[in-house]
Amino acid sequence: MVFLKKDIDYSILRKRMVDGLVRVGMIRSKEVERAFLKVPREEFVWHNMKHLAYEDTPLPLGNTGQTISAPHMVAIMLEEFDLKKGLRVLEIGAGSGYSAALMAEIVQPTESENQGHVTSIERVLELINFAKDNLKRTGYFDRVSIVFGDGTLGYPERSEEMLYDRIVVTAAAPYIPRYLGIQLKEDGIILAPVGNTFMQTLVKAIKYRGRMEVREVCGCMFVPLIGENGFRP
Ligand code: SAH
Repeated sequence: MVFLKKDIDYSILRKRMVDGLVRVGMIRSKEVERAFLKVPREEFVWHNMKHLAYEDTPLPLGNTGQTISAPHMVAIMLEEFDLKKGLRVLEIGAGSGYSAALMAEIVQPTESENQGHVTSIERVLELINFAKDNLKRTGYFDRVSIVFGDGTLGYPERSEEMLYDRIVVTAAAPYIPRYLGIQLKEDGIILAPVGNTFMQTLVKAIKYRGRMEVREVCGCMFVPLIGENGFRP
């Protein structure tokens, strides 16, 4: 039988992938499971990669040198992130906009009046437009702001205000950038892959009485965080 790409039933593939992530314990909560079942990853991968959207692997975003992360990695991060309705989230590294859409689905489910919002920063211009288009098509653009800039300085850049309940870095950082710590609210969580440009440890930092309590989650591999408080270009 000839299997045309346009004939693929993505919802079946999505369900199968999510069931697999639940089975191996990478998706543990109902909220994360619900978000993964809702957000169509095929709308966030590069145009010629749609048929691979439900393989559990990172995929290149055109020839930008960047990637959409593997679903299991996003699942691990979301489970550690303890998202709830109404929280304000900052993401460094919008890429395709996929992880931002998943987080938006949890902090402000469709038709909710809740004030949850995701702000996601990206330094590659081509990806700004890509992420925005993907979020518009899938109905998340009102709950996610995509911003161009160097996320290693926080957002707004160098602000000393405590603005966010959660901050996630989706690129490999040499250390947790100082402004991210400052812009995190009390009891907030920062997740970041910290290490060199080849291998990192996913680090979870919780702000408790103004200090960061840091714990290591697992090993991981991300594209580098490039900026003033990251790696050099
Ligand atoms: N969360 C994305 C995957 C991101 S890959 C998704 O779901 O598709 C990491 C992204 O971080 C890349 O797009 C890269 O361009 C971006 N990035 C790297 N350094 C950055 C910086 N200093 N500020 C903002 N974005 C950065």
